[in-house]
Amino acid sequence: MTEENRDTTKERRESALSEHDQRAQKIAEWVRGQGGIHIHVNRYVTIVNEKTVNELVCKIQEELETNCNADSAILLNVMSYLRKYDFTTTDEAGYDTPDFILAKSELDVALQYLKLNPKKAMKYLAYRYKLKKLANNFSLLDFTPVLHLESALSCNLMCAMCYQSDSALQNAIKASSVKLMKWDLFTKVIDEAVALNCCAVVFAGRGEPTLNPRFSEMLKYCHEKGILDIKFNTNAMTLTEKMAREWLSIKAPLTIVFSVDAADKDTFEKIRIGASFDKVVNNIKMFNRIRNEEFPDSPVRTRIQMVMFNNEQDPEKAKNFWALLVDEFSVRNANCEQAGNVYQNDPNGPKNVCPDKVCRAPFTRLYVWSDGNVNPCESDYLSHLQVGNVYKESLHDIWNGPKIMKLRIAHMSGKKNNYYPCNGCSGH
Ligand code: SF4
Repeated sequence: MTEENRDTTKERRESALSEHDQRAQKIAEWVRGQGGIHIHVNRYVTIVNEKTVNELVCKIQEELETNCNADSAILLNVMSYLRKYDFTTTDEAGYDTPDFILAKSELDVALQYLKLNPKKAMKYLAYRYKLKKLANNFSLLDFTPVLHLESALSCNLMCAMCYQSDSALQNAIKASSVKLMKWDLFTKVIDEAVALNCCAVVFAGRGEPTLNPRFSEMLKYCHEKGILDIKFNTNAMTLTEKMAREWLSIKAPLTIVFSVDAADKDTFEKIRIGASFDKVVNNIKMFNRIRNEEFPDSPVRTRIQMVMFNNEQDPEKAKNFWALLVDEFSVRNANCEQAGNVYQNDPNGPKNVCPDKVCRAPFTRLYVWSDGNVNPCESDYLSHLQVGNVYKESLHDIWNGPKIMKLRIAHMSGKKNNYYPCNGCSGH
């Protein structure tokens, strides 16, 4: 990096910090003007078709006829759903409907497992059902269906819409003696989660996960312990050939999400403060070259989840550019909480944001921060809602403990806004 570039990046970081509150308001206004969140997902590489879905249905039927499975009732429902599968389904999430919807990308994972190990395909389908049909509709499961882990608290960038551009978080990072999750804590958490039948780990939190030098080992450990759905976000600035090979060696449908929000250098670098557009493009191309040449059968998938928060971004242009470089591309509008708007409602001020909303976060996830503190969501990235600490309590006790239970009850009884910062948050 030249002296001049360094100075510009420093200035941009400083102005990002000083303009944080104003920008958060602007994003919230822009989002409200859009009339809701829109998600479009296109999976470009898919093995979902009538023949493969039928193979999956036959396997579920065989499993139900020959084995006594704790998830039999769930598998029966999944089988019945798949028999009438709508092949035009493109909405990845299916989160905003009480119906059970499996996106093509999810079926792709199930089909990959069918080839590798049919038992895992059954387990994966049951887990998606529990997450999307049960937990999403506020059924309390024995343990969280998805565990979020923060392998690194810090980030190498300071993106305009990210928590990292809030000086309150930067101060918390400076004050924290733990910026990387320790290996012993990580293995303790994964071992406990596996014993509690958790199938999904997402490496996401407030920092860039690949900054943890043992990150690739963490992925491998999760896979070897039986975690079926492993996902992480990265800004791709740190990606090296060594990392690419380590990730691609994992014989599981690992999902790598590249954080990218524009297709032209100017817009991209204005948003991703500190990143180089050319470097990110070259790193993703390098990853693809290694995958094609050395790991042609790898089940590892790549995705871009573009987040819209202003009119300078051009989703069509971005899609046309990035779709050639990743397996899946999606666009969604930011939510109002993006960039820290969640804290702009004073704890003693008006409590009027979505008062009747029941937030799904406390029913569907737990976030273990790098220092062991546990939170129900990442919208509250300053951890006012902290529900435990894995150094002091087991994950099981935290999930079933009084703190998170009181939060769930408040949400279910229309008292969400008694909690700060839930009172400034539209929830999940
Ligand atoms: S309402 Fe917002 S702050 Fe409260 S639990 Fe849900 S996501 Fe977190």
